[in-house]
Amino acid sequence: MSAQILDGKAIAADIRVGIKAQVEAMIAVGKRQPGLAVVLVGEDPASQVYVRNKRAACAEVGFYSELHQLPSDIPVARLLALIDDLNARETIDGILVQLPLPDHIDEEQVIERILPTKDVDGFHPYNVGRLTLRMPLLRPCTPKGVMTLLERTGRQLEGLDAIIIGQSNIVGRPMALELLAARCTISICHSRTRDLPGKIIAADLVVAAVGRPHFVQGDWVKEGAIVIDVGINRTAAGALVGDVDFPAVAERAAWITPVPGGVGPMTIASLLENTLQAARLHVPG
Ligand code: NAD
Repeated sequence: MSAQILDGKAIAADIRVGIKAQVEAMIAVGKRQPGLAVVLVGEDPASQVYVRNKRAACAEVGFYSELHQLPSDIPVARLLALIDDLNARETIDGILVQLPLPDHIDEEQVIERILPTKDVDGFHPYNVGRLTLRMPLLRPCTPKGVMTLLERTGRQLEGLDAIIIGQSNIVGRPMALELLAARCTISICHSRTRDLPGKIIAADLVVAAVGRPHFVQGDWVKEGAIVIDVGINRTAAGALVGDVDFPAVAERAAWITPVPGGVGPMTIASLLENTLQAARLHVPG
């Protein structure tokens, strides 16, 4: 293997130490602790794990957090009323509605109901619009976490040819906006893209956000590329694997993220950063 590992687990731990110190400093001057409300609808086991991990991270850095666990058949009006209540609560800086939501609920309607300054996932059209206009406020967590990982390589991003595989609202699209703002030349690929390997081989930077185990093959990747694996896939045996064929790609890449321990912990670190940022918006000074 020739690639250097981008250790998201260690970098996220560093970030948490820094945030904890900032929370302690806020409390020392008489401010309240940042507060996050997490809303979980239904019983999806993966969502339950994500929510547990996010709340554990909040506790570690000294944030207040509360969980609103709601039944999967909750009427939309009740969910929106809860968000209105959380929008109005002074001790809540961030509201996170864990996705996906059950089919009868319109996710966009729910996200748009969150006050943009409490939208710590960065999914509200206001925050996505600001990112598009290169004046970001709260940035979507996973792409923001990837940008932090990329900074740690020390590599200049300006001018790199970057390819993003996946065009979802929560990963692919905001990732493209982040990399464009960093002055990469970007290509966004998706399930209808023709000759994907032929496009990936030309890229200096590859971000895979497809949701298919071991999708990106070793011989698709240019020698010396940076490869970021956003995918989280569970195999039949219960193991977590990414979208990249790690051993084969690591032979050619200069940098690579592992799964687990790459982008996943960075997503949570970005959520903490966003919640702290929101708290500073709500309690200035
Ligand atoms: P999604 O299903 O919304 O989007 C997947 C994208 O992949 C789509 O745009 C689709 O067009 C594209 N795609 C599918 N098949 C393709 C093909 N054959 N060739 C090219 N493109 C193809 O998924 P998502 O929400 O963006 O998540 C993607 C992956 O990232 C999933 O594994 C998810 O679990 C993971 N994820 C990880 C984190 C994290 O913190 N690490 C956060 C969010 C999502």
